[in-house]
Amino acid sequence: MARNDEREALLADLEISGALVDPLVEEAMLAVPRHVFVPDDATGHAYEDRPLPVGFGQTISAPHMVAMMTGALMLKPGDNVLEVGTGMGYHAAVLKHIVGPTGKVTSIEYVPELAERARKNLASIDCHVDVVTGDGADGYPQNAPYDAVLVTCAMPRIPDELLWQVRDGGHFVAPVGVTRCRLLAGTVVDGDFRHENISDCLFVNMQGRLAEEQ
Ligand code: SAH
Repeated sequence: MARNDEREALLADLEISGALVDPLVEEAMLAVPRHVFVPDDATGHAYEDRPLPVGFGQTISAPHMVAMMTGALMLKPGDNVLEVGTGMGYHAAVLKHIVGPTGKVTSIEYVPELAERARKNLASIDCHVDVVTGDGADGYPQNAPYDAVLVTCAMPRIPDELLWQVRDGGHFVAPVGVTRCRLLAGTVVDGDFRHENISDCLFVNMQGRLAEEQ
């Protein structure tokens, strides 16, 4: 099957399963070529609904997880978004497609080699995302306030520094726990994260200062 057909078939399955409900997310996932963001030896699996290893003990998130998390961010064109955990850059490209040329996506990655790969992958499809190397536990105050913040690695707890960077009424989505975690999604109002648990999930653990507290 041609890659475009594989991508359409995957998205049709995600819609049937209920993971994909937002038309803006669907349009973005149809537009972004996931095979560009997986390691060369895994391109044949790029349109299967599962996470794929990318080296350094990390993975690229499964498409249904990308669809669900992105839907919960309730993005619109022009939004300013922060992602914690760039990986190979796939999810960042989906976010950028939704916020469009008037919006902005900043993504923080802890592993410098992955940040470099993500920058190359994103540049190869002409997608403009600011990839920053660092510890996402601190967020990226330089580009705050954000309309939405997405965390793509399991956080043992949500640091206040990150919540403070979400604008009042902005959205926050994060897997909280260690490896087996709860996917929390909601809005930040007066510095308070009003959330619901949208699913149980498995994510790679966050590295850096929060992990060292454990
Ligand atoms: N968003 C990615 C998911 C990558 S997996 C995608 O599109 O598939 C989670 C990523 O979080 C890994 O690349 C990992 O290196 C990174 N990570 C782990 N701890 C981090 C931290 N403290 N700050 C930023 N990134 C971190």
